Amino acid sequence: MWKEAAFMIKLKGSGVCSGIVIGKITYIDRSAPEVRMLRSEDSDAELQRVEKAKVTALAQLTELYEKTLEEVGSESAEIFNIQRMMLNDRDYNNAVKNIIVGDKVNAEYAVAVAGDNFEMMLSSMQDDYMRARSADVRDLSDRLIRCLNGKAQEDNSFAGKRIICAFDLTPSETVQMDRSNVLAMVTAVGSSVSHAAILARTMGIPAVVGVGRKLSADYNGEMAAVDGTDGVIYIDPDEKTLAELEAKHKEELKHREVVKKLKGRSTATRDGRKINLYANISGVSDVEAVIANDAEGIGLFRSEFLYMAGKDLPSEETQFAAYKKVAEAMGGKRVIVRTMDIGADKQADCLGLEPEENPAMGYRAIRICLNNKDIFKTQLRALYRASAYGKLAIMFPMIISAGEIRTAKYFVEEVKAELRAEGIPFDEDMEIGIMIETPAAAVISDTLAKEVDFFSIGTNDLTQYTLAIDRQNPVLGEFYDPYHPALKRMIKEVIDNAHAAGIWVGLCGELGSDPNMTDWLIKAGIDEISVSPSMVLEIRGRISETEASS
Ligand code: PEP
Ligand code: MG
Repeated sequence: MWKEAAFMIKLKGSGVCSGIVIGKITYIDRSAPEVRMLRSEDSDAELQRVEKAKVTALAQLTELYEKTLEEVGSESAEIFNIQRMMLNDRDYNNAVKNIIVGDKVNAEYAVAVAGDNFEMMLSSMQDDYMRARSADVRDLSDRLIRCLNGKAQEDNSFAGKRIICAFDLTPSETVQMDRSNVLAMVTAVGSSVSHAAILARTMGIPAVVGVGRKLSADYNGEMAAVDGTDGVIYIDPDEKTLAELEAKHKEELKHREVVKKLKGRSTATRDGRKINLYANISGVSDVEAVIANDAEGIGLFRSEFLYMAGKDLPSEETQFAAYKKVAEAMGGKRVIVRTMDIGADKQADCLGLEPEENPAMGYRAIRICLNNKDIFKTQLRALYRASAYGKLAIMFPMIISAGEIRTAKYFVEEVKAELRAEGIPFDEDMEIGIMIETPAAAVISDTLAKEVDFFSIGTNDLTQYTLAIDRQNPVLGEFYDPYHPALKRMIKEVIDNAHAAGIWVGLCGELGSDPNMTDWLIKAGIDEISVSPSMVLEIRGRISETEASS
């Protein structure tokens, strides 16, 4: 039974992905557990508590291992296997025991101290593999402490469909979520063009970001309604609100039915200009939504998520399998894979990069690739091998100069020569393009157009760098103007420069999913638009209403 209206809490943020859902909240609390040192004379009782907590932790790790193995793959699942082994490591367990018995302290404190010591020892080792394990010891110790202090209760599990709430979500947390169990996502902070938000949209999960710090762990297990269209979460909603949301939900479903009729139609303007309408993906599992929504290709495969899935670099075989699967699933339709764009909010443990003062302007994307030839060539080899199984294209991110393109293409030629020598088949003519997402690239797009087969305009970054507004910062939301005249002028110039050089130009930033911009983009001459899978049919409808030549 719902409580009276007086108890309902309404928190407003930015709607990221439309849709209305009702369900229970699971609050993801990522803060490290608080530990106090307490004196305990009864060491046996403390040791028994540790044993009991270990049983719970083992069950959780086993569940996580199996879930990750099934949904992400064995490389990522291995993290949980390693933690299971650590849980029974003799040295680790002896350290905990010695602290409990020797110092006459509580189990939580002993686990925290043992965890700190092991983390420090591992992080100072020469061996890369052992150094990487320091984070696992930290994770494991935090888990054990949560099991000891009862914070690992049922409501924090993903059992059943839940509304996932958190202070913030990282892109890697978002992509690893079991989407079949996520009704909606709501975060206290975050902006609508952050990667976590983009992922939610790609996954078609109703989402709201930036609802403020009132959203807290206190609401774990509470009933809530999420309106992803208007960007609101109602905690403990009253009858009247539920009735209003129900009516709105029905309207949205009706609209979706209308739009669904556009499935199977080709995408063209009213006066007959064909536009390539593609979709953006973050991983192999998104292809299902691309096909279900009838996209004509994939305009952006954010390959960096393969690097964020595990603690080790994805091997050539892992990448080859992913690209091949997508290429085959798309059955000859164009699939543009962007080489890894790690950096800024997309951090990958496997690269072991130093923290930066200003990561959005830092060591990112093509800059990392050009400095790490082996890592880059591994990806290029996987891509070229997969090109034999469909219509793949390659795209380089964060380009600022023609020199970068030439160096990248030099590595491409090396890879092609190696594959030829090994007798491995590949597409000799695979298209190579770049993202136009820095003001530098936009301004010299006439020069860059001579180096590549296509452009794809990345308005998310182009907006942040042109307006000097961090796309991650929710405080700057009111200044983040995706329709700023400076941007429109740049986009128009990039399109004209591409066409003057005889190449095609697309757009894969979130602006493409904004129906308010469709008419303008078509009239500006865009050839391809790549949008969230859930927005394909909506944008097809908009394109069909547009006169390209007027
Ligand atoms: C962009 O910057 O517009 C883009 C598509 O790339 P990402 O959002 O992944 O940075
Ligand atoms: Mg970008």
